[in-house]
Amino acid sequence: MIKFLDLEKVTALHGGEIAAAVDRVVKSGQYLLGREVKAFEDSYSHYTGTGYTIGVANGLDALTLIFRAYIELGALRPGDEVIVPANTYIASILAISENGLVPVLVEPDPATLQLDAAKAEAAVTPRTRAILLVHLYGRCAYNEAIEHICSGHNLLLIEDNAQAHGCLYNKRRTGSLGNAAGHSFYPGKNLGALGDGGAVTTDDPELAATVRTLANYGSEKKYLFSYRGRNSRLDEIQAAVLGVKLKYIDSDNARRREVAKMYINGITYPDVILPRVSDFDSHVFHIFPILTPDRDKLQQHLQDNGVQTLIHYPVPPHKQRCYKEWGGLSLPVTEMIHSRELSLPISPAITDSEVRTVIEIINSRQS
Ligand SMILES: *Cc1c(COP(=O)(O)O)cnc(C)c1O
Repeated sequence: MIKFLDLEKVTALHGGEIAAAVDRVVKSGQYLLGREVKAFEDSYSHYTGTGYTIGVANGLDALTLIFRAYIELGALRPGDEVIVPANTYIASILAISENGLVPVLVEPDPATLQLDAAKAEAAVTPRTRAILLVHLYGRCAYNEAIEHICSGHNLLLIEDNAQAHGCLYNKRRTGSLGNAAGHSFYPGKNLGALGDGGAVTTDDPELAATVRTLANYGSEKKYLFSYRGRNSRLDEIQAAVLGVKLKYIDSDNARRREVAKMYINGITYPDVILPRVSDFDSHVFHIFPILTPDRDKLQQHLQDNGVQTLIHYPVPPHKQRCYKEWGGLSLPVTEMIHSRELSLPISPAITDSEVRTVIEIINSRQS
């Protein structure tokens, strides 16, 4: 069986160092808000090229806290519109609606599967205040057109960098391209912890301080509360693990690109659209998405031959029961992607021979 993602093997790649880091925390007696979190925040700021990193409990909290902080600072007001790609994971959209802001779903470009800048521009109204740009599948969604819309309409640019740790745009890391970014360290992400974790990065000292306060019950000073905040912490064990894994993120991502290249060069099955990437070296291939009208049958064929795949995602946000007010929306590009997308196994731990097996099984399918 070739797993979609073999987390045991991924952890084992740096297993000794990870075990030593966990052991160090166990023996320290300090499990929250200690030096491991501080050290990771400093290294992550250095890595992303941002002034501030605030460790939080997960990626959804990171995004939610950014919007909440902008509301507390008066830069956003409930009812304001936030443009977001319609084909993203639900968390991006939850972070907006949870704050009383209005998500405006915009179609992706079918060639890149990332937010379509022309359609984003067309969706701007007098109530639009921000774009939540998602670097979906590990591919950079930022470009000059997005930059132009933000500066032209005075919009905040918030990045959802949950799937793109280490991704580059003109030598700058994603997570440093806009006003603030939310990162997830869910175990399956490129930079994954051994449990939940997340972070906010920004260059804005006021935003950083507000996010930190909101994540700490709204308290800057012990037992004094400036906001009705929440409890959202990255814990010491996860921070210590992430400190180890951050050292290897670039080599892990390079291995993902090798796997992606093998798939791109090896898959000859006629009915498949493979990712076409001009800036290949910037892509971190969190997901290797292929598109085929034959998706369900191909997935079954792979399953029958011992290869596990996933669909990112089977049901688009506007077709979910939790947003039933969007049930009537027609978003054909998004719906096409959701009906045709199949994610092949990819990780730094997959072997060349496993990748070759996946390719052979795909190519052997008779349509
Ligand atoms: C994983 C993910 C999140 C949420 O991260 P969690 O840590 O699971 O809360 C947000 N946005 C995107 C695009 C994701 O893939």
